[in-house]
Amino acid sequence: MASIAAHLQDTYRHRGMRRKMLDGLRQMGIADERVLSAMDEVPRHYYLDAAFDKFAYENKAFQIGAGQTISHPYTVARQSELLQLPEGSKVLEIGTGSGFQCAVLCAMGYKVYSIERQKELYDRAKPFLKQLGYRADIFYGDGYKGKPVFAPFDGILVTCGAPSIPEALLGQLNIGGRIIIPIDDASAGEGVQIMTEVRRVGQKKFTRQTHGHFAFVPMLASRVR
Ligand code: SAH
Repeated sequence: MASIAAHLQDTYRHRGMRRKMLDGLRQMGIADERVLSAMDEVPRHYYLDAAFDKFAYENKAFQIGAGQTISHPYTVARQSELLQLPEGSKVLEIGTGSGFQCAVLCAMGYKVYSIERQKELYDRAKPFLKQLGYRADIFYGDGYKGKPVFAPFDGILVTCGAPSIPEALLGQLNIGGRIIIPIDDASAGEGVQIMTEVRRVGQKKFTRQTHGHFAFVPMLASRVR
């Protein structure tokens, strides 16, 4: 695969496509202006191979290497919206992938930490986000373990489909904070998840809400060299 975004140019044409994407997101129910303006600020085509340049603003997932995909724009917008945190909050992302969701969270004013288990993707996203001026902390590791040294987090956003809610992540959440995580829903089919919001309301008390079905690549254990 060619290097991600051989051409980092945000042209008039790209901005036009982005406006259309934003109209589409509004029509699909995204109402949070902070999310919409962050998605306007972060050029999605930078995070994709140049071959996808024309399609970068369509509501589609694309291959980003190592058998992984960048999430649909609607999915990124919806997960970002569900966090419902004030600017300056600490957010942990599981699954850095292309770095796009991470950049959107940075643009929303969060202090972002992100973990990726595929070395190849980590090696690309970390310097790339830095080059673009984002101050996120990117780690190579297993998201099931979270990042205890930087815990607690106000929000944890998981961008891969998990079989269940990882115990370690619950313990790294601030009281009042939320985990937004797609959980496998076998009754809906293979590779289908239900978007789940878990809110920590007390030291040992959590509430749970669901937000419809999505399709993600699987959350897998341990790191890959
Ligand atoms: N947020 C990414 C989405 C990438 S797809 C983006 O905006 O592009 C999900 C990512 O989760 C993949 O890169 C995959 O390698 C990663 N992943 C899967 N299991 C993981 C785990 N246990 N820990 C960390 N990352 C994981």
